[in-house]
Amino acid sequence: MKVLLVEDDRDLAEGLVKALRSEGFIMAHEVLGANAQKQLASFGPDLVVLDLGLPDMDGLDVLKYLRRKKTGTPVLVLTARSALNDKVNALDIGADDYLQKPFEMPELLARLRVMQRRLGTAASSEVTIDSVVLDTVAHRLRVDGVEVHLPRKEYMTLKILMEQAGRVKTRDMLENNLYERGETIGSNTIEVHISNLRKKLPDNFIKTIRGVGYTIHQDAG
Ligand code: CA
Repeated sequence: MKVLLVEDDRDLAEGLVKALRSEGFIMAHEVLGANAQKQLASFGPDLVVLDLGLPDMDGLDVLKYLRRKKTGTPVLVLTARSALNDKVNALDIGADDYLQKPFEMPELLARLRVMQRRLGTAASSEVTIDSVVLDTVAHRLRVDGVEVHLPRKEYMTLKILMEQAGRVKTRDMLENNLYERGETIGSNTIEVHISNLRKKLPDNFIKTIRGVGYTIHQDAG
């Protein structure tokens, strides 16, 4: 899931990028509205987190631009403005949700999850690579048309690898996505999940990048 963050407060942006990356989001960050508009086409985000007070233009204009393009990309607006008017304006123009600064990170993550779920039901909920189909709403896996049961952590591991096919996920990234901070994790926990998954998937579907991590190719063939 790709998220474009448009925010000129550097400290806030840095914190957000870090937090969202550790949640498994693929991040792009822009400070200027003009650059954000370019990124809409080149990066192709699934979700946009948009600050309204940008140095070069009003964030609402970025939102207007996005909606003129007729893309349904969900937008979460961030703003320090408390005026009811701004909130109504943003929603009228086509923002999907609104978060007033200052906010707590869990609150932002919760809002994004809701938007993600909406995406899941609106667009296709299935990720298909070769003969492997993962339904991310029903949490079901089919391999060659046959349903395969997956325990939760294995499901989460496969979901990350399939949704971000072509990217290498390190053991740390996977651990961060699968386990809460402070939770005790065995040193080979991820290897065990991967090894269990491999027994249920076509040969060589999950590739090991030695010393780095794991990946699934878009055409796993
Ligand atoms: Ca700002």
